[in-house]
Amino acid sequence: MKKKFKFKKSVKVFFFVLLVVGICFVAYNVIMNNDKDNNYNEGFGNNQNTDKIDETLLTLGYSEEDISVLKANLSDSEISSLDMYDDNVISFVSNKYFNFNNLERYITYSKNNNYDVDEIITHVNINIDKPFYSEIKTIEDPSNLLVLCNKYNALPSDYEPEDLTEVGSSGIYMRKEAAENMYQMVLAAESAELNVNLVSGYRSYDYQVDLYQRHVRERGQEEADRVSARAGHSEHQTGLAMDLSNDWSLEKYFEDTELFEWLSENDYKYGFILRYPKDKEYLTGYDYEPWHYRYVGVEVATVIHEEDITYEEYVMKYLTTN
Ligand SMILES: [Zn+2]
Repeated sequence: MKKKFKFKKSVKVFFFVLLVVGICFVAYNVIMNNDKDNNYNEGFGNNQNTDKIDETLLTLGYSEEDISVLKANLSDSEISSLDMYDDNVISFVSNKYFNFNNLERYITYSKNNNYDVDEIITHVNINIDKPFYSEIKTIEDPSNLLVLCNKYNALPSDYEPEDLTEVGSSGIYMRKEAAENMYQMVLAAESAELNVNLVSGYRSYDYQVDLYQRHVRERGQEEADRVSARAGHSEHQTGLAMDLSNDWSLEKYFEDTELFEWLSENDYKYGFILRYPKDKEYLTGYDYEPWHYRYVGVEVATVIHEEDITYEEYVMKYLTTN
C-alpha cells in the first residue's frame, strides 16, 4: 500500500512538470509569433528572400561553399542577377579587379584562351577581348594628365591642349608640365654625354589624319594600324607624348643605343614611361616603339617602372573603379 501511494505521488509530480513545460512552450510560441508579426517587413521578409537566392544558386550548380564566397564578394543585387554557372566564376569573383559587369566576357574569354585568372580579368577590363577600334568611347576629360588614349578611347576631334609649351628651343611642343620635365630629362641625358633629338611632340587631329592616311597608302590598313594611330587615337594629340632619337630616325635599333639604355633607367624620374614596350602589343595595340615616351608624372611613372606594367594595366589597377 505504501509503495502504491508513493507511486501515485510521483505521477502527480510528473504531470505537474509536464503542465509547466507545456505552458512555457505555448508562451514561447506566442511571444515569437508576435515578434515575427512585428518584424515582418524587415527581418522575416529578407530571410525568405535569402533562402530563395540560395535555392536558385544551388539549382544553378553552386555549392554551399561557393555561395558563401559569392556572398563575400558580390552585392545583394549582383547575386540576385547571377543567372549562370561556370567553373571559373568563383575564382573570378575572388579576384581583386573583378568587375561584375564583365562576368560573361571573362567566361567567354577564358574559353578561347589559356590565360590564368589574373590575366583574363586584366585583359577583359582593358577591353582587349574586343577587336581594336570596336566600341570606341570618346574621352570625356581629354585634358587630364592621366588620360588613357588608345584604340578603344578616342580624343574629341576638336581637342587641342590649352597649355602647349615649346620644349627648350626645339620647335616641338608639349603640355606645359610635360615640356618642362622633358626639357630637364634632355639636359640630364646631355650631361651624361648623350645626344638627344626631339622628333615629334604634339600633333593635331588634322595632322594625324594625314599621317595615318599616308601609312595606309604605303603599307595597307592592317600594317598601318600596327604602327600608326587613327586620328583621335594618337597620344601625340594629348600633348603628353614625345618621340626621341639619337639620329633623327625612329627605328627599332634605337633600343640598342646608349640613349635608350639611359632612358630605361631614368625616364620615370622625370615622369615619363615607355608607352609601347616590347612584346606588349596585345595590350597596348601598338608595335614596339622604343622611341615613344609618355608623360604621366613622377609618381605614376615610378609605379609603372617598379611593377614593369603597361599604362593600360596601370589604369586598370589604379584608376578604374568598378
Ligand atoms: Zn610617338
